[in-house]
Amino acid sequence: MRALVYNGPKDVSVVDVPDAEIEAPTDAVVKITTTNICGSDLHMYEGRTDVEQGKVLGHENMGVVEEVGPGVTRLKKGDRVSLPFNIACGHCRNCTQGKTAFCLEVNPGSAGGAYGYADMGPYSGGQAEYLRVPFADFNALRLPGGTEHENDFTMLSDIFPTGWHGTRLAGLQPGESVAIMGAGPVGLMAALSARIQGADQIYVVDMQPDRLRLAEQVGATPVDFSKGSAEEQIMEATKGVGVDRGVEAVGWQAHDHSGDEHPAGTLDTLVEVVRATGGIGVVGVFPPADPNGPDPDMQEGRLRFPFGQFFFKGQSMGTGQCNTKAYNRQLRDLIIAGKADPGFIVSHELSLEDAASGYEHFDNREDGWTKVLLHP
Ligand code: NAD
Ligand code: ZN
Repeated sequence: MRALVYNGPKDVSVVDVPDAEIEAPTDAVVKITTTNICGSDLHMYEGRTDVEQGKVLGHENMGVVEEVGPGVTRLKKGDRVSLPFNIACGHCRNCTQGKTAFCLEVNPGSAGGAYGYADMGPYSGGQAEYLRVPFADFNALRLPGGTEHENDFTMLSDIFPTGWHGTRLAGLQPGESVAIMGAGPVGLMAALSARIQGADQIYVVDMQPDRLRLAEQVGATPVDFSKGSAEEQIMEATKGVGVDRGVEAVGWQAHDHSGDEHPAGTLDTLVEVVRATGGIGVVGVFPPADPNGPDPDMQEGRLRFPFGQFFFKGQSMGTGQCNTKAYNRQLRDLIIAGKADPGFIVSHELSLEDAASGYEHFDNREDGWTKVLLHP
């Protein structure tokens, strides 16, 4: 089958690889209809991880069940499904408590499993014609058949639940205000989630005009940090009071396109603008220290963080990968009910064969390249 593989920093290509197959009785094989390029893929693409050469990438997958193993009882060939980016066993201590991002079985000794990702287990990704899905009955979310809402449903595998998770980690309540760092796909999904949850004021910080326009489209107030400090702009807009909640949706970046070499600045800003006792949700990915890794800063694994100010203000912070299964069913039903349209961020739909150019444009954050979908 055809699949996109990692060759080295800024080098991916679509090649022939062995077909995805049933390897365990509880597996299914899914024929991919849509698979997205994610900001998380850029951590690998830009060479910030130790992902192995030849790995098939892609963790934002949906499609139609092609084959099921003898231990699969609920899913059937022909079912249209969304596949959470987390691979989870469903019965370990974390999974039984809904913490499927931190399954203790699928990637022992590490923190959870995922398709096509560095350090997240030996699982191939779905930027391919077919995908092997472990523990398929547990992991797959069934969707209505046909092709309706494809561009909305494809956000259920990761970024819509992840944006939602950011607001839940922050403890957002109806009527509250929130500042979201980053208007990438995840930040925009956090803004959409905040609006659906009844937030009052939503501020979205970025410097890319096209992305800030999309933030405005979901009812948020854009804050352009290239035109002055985000902190000052938010404090002025809130008459010096600050916001109730903050969401970090940028994560570790080699450079943040502002010339500031300290991406942890996003956390400094949130500690500053969130009111005393307010909450901060961090869904942007900050990888653990890797003494042998390619990024010298991450070899220390330390970030600048204004802990004294955070302590003094009595703030709280939630972090981590999204437990996709905790939210994807309800978010699917909001889409079906016409109450959520996460597909509004889709900017490009490419064939799988053109995936490498999709990576290049998205990585350069070229004007208008907000979210790229691949159709094998
Ligand atoms: P992206 O890289 O497309 O978006 C990041 C945005 O942040 C860009 O628009 C960029 O211009 C902006 N930015 C950069 N520096 C900034 C700064 N200092 N202040 C404000 N904005 C700044 O990526 P994405 O797909 O939106 O993903 C965002 C983050 O979320 C990544 O770190 C990704 O790995 C992570 N992520 C986490 C999970 C999870 O489960 N926790 C899931 C998916 C993605
Ligand atoms: Zn993703």
